[in-house]
Amino acid sequence: MKAGIVGLPNVGKSTLFNCLSNAKAQSANFPFCTIEPNIGVVNVPDMRLQKLESLVNPERVLPATVDIVDIAGLVKGASKGEGLGNQFLGNIRETDAILHVLRCFEDDNIIHVDGSVDPVRDKETIDMELQLKDLETIDKKLEKVKRASRTGNKEAQKEEGALLKVKAGLEAGKSVRALDLTDSEREEFIKNLQLITDKPVMYVCNVDEKAAVDGNAFVEQVKVAVKDENAEVIVLAVGTEADITELDDYEERKMFLQDIGLDEPGSAKLIRGAYRLLKLQTYFTAGVKEVRAWTIPVGSSAPQAAGVIHTDFEKGFIRAEVIAYEDFVSLGSEAKVKEAGKMKVEGKEYIVKDGDVMHFRFNV
Ligand code: GDP
Repeated sequence: MKAGIVGLPNVGKSTLFNCLSNAKAQSANFPFCTIEPNIGVVNVPDMRLQKLESLVNPERVLPATVDIVDIAGLVKGASKGEGLGNQFLGNIRETDAILHVLRCFEDDNIIHVDGSVDPVRDKETIDMELQLKDLETIDKKLEKVKRASRTGNKEAQKEEGALLKVKAGLEAGKSVRALDLTDSEREEFIKNLQLITDKPVMYVCNVDEKAAVDGNAFVEQVKVAVKDENAEVIVLAVGTEADITELDDYEERKMFLQDIGLDEPGSAKLIRGAYRLLKLQTYFTAGVKEVRAWTIPVGSSAPQAAGVIHTDFEKGFIRAEVIAYEDFVSLGSEAKVKEAGKMKVEGKEYIVKDGDVMHFRFNV
C-alpha cells in the first residue's frame, strides 16, 4: 500500500518527501526537479510502541511503515501530455491514496507557476487534469460497453448507466470520490477502473512558520473549497519542519518544535493520516527479542494478520492468543494478563482490532 504526494511544481512536495523519509530527493527552486518518482519507506509514529518497550524491555523495537511516493510535478495540460504529463499520471494510478500538497505560504523568492499564491485555484488545476485523465478511461470503457449494451445485454446496460453517470460528473468538474453512486455501481463497475479521482485524498496545506499551529487565510479558503469532499485537511510548515529535521540532536529538534508551538512534528500527524487514509491498522507482537508493530488492512482476520509475518503462519494457522493493548498496559505484563484471565484465545474467524498484542500458534 502506498500514498502518493501530488501538487503543482514548487509547492513543497520534495521538501515534504525529504522531511518524511531520509532518502535524499532533490529539492530546488525549479519546476520538475523531481523527475523520477521517489519511494520512501516511512515509519509510522506510535506512542504505544514506546509504552510496550518500557514494559517488555526487548532487544529491539520495529515500527510499522507506510510507503510514500513523491510524484513528479503536474502542470496545466498534463492530461494532454504537457510537462511530464502522462508519465506522472501513470505513477498516480499505482498509488492507493493521495496526499495533495497546496502552497499556502507567500515567498517572493519561490516562483509560482501561475504567478500568485492561490491554493484553491491550484487544487482545481490539479483536479481538472486528473478528471480529464479519468474521463479518457471512462470513454474507452464506454465504447466497449456500448457495443454489448446495444445487443440487449442487461448487465452491460446497467454498466453503461453507471459509466454515463460518472462521465457526466467528471464533465461537470467533480471528482469520482464525490459522486453520488450506489454501492453496487461502485463495487461492480467503477472500482476496477482504478480511477485517479476515486482514490481517497488528504489535503496538506504548506504554510509558513508563523501559521504552523493555527493555519492562515489560505487554509481557510481550502477548507471551504473541499467541505463536500469528506477529506482531511492538515496544516504543515513544510519548510520549517525540513530545517528542523536536519538537526542531529533529538532534544534540539524538540526545542525548535516547541518554539513554533508544536509538541510533535506535523509530519507525524501526516503519516498517521496517510495510514488512516489507506485504511490500515496496527497490531503488535511483544517478546523479549523484539517488540514490533505490524500493518494490516482494517477488517483483517487473525490468519491474514499472521500472514503478514510469514505466509506459513497463515497457511498453518491454528489459533491466536490475543491481549488488548489497554489490558497489557494496565496489567503490565503478559504473565499478569494471563493471571487475570484477560488473554483470549481466538480462532480463524477473529477480526483483529487495532492495538491487539498477538501470539500465533501454527502448524509447519
Ligand atoms: P516541489 O516542486 O513541489 O517538489 O517543491 P520543492 O519541495 O522543491 O520546493 C520548492 C521551493 O520552495 C524550494 O526552494 C523549497 O525550499 C521552498 N519551500 C518549500 N516549502 C516551503 C515553505 O513552507 N516555505 C517557504 N518559504 N519555502 C518553501
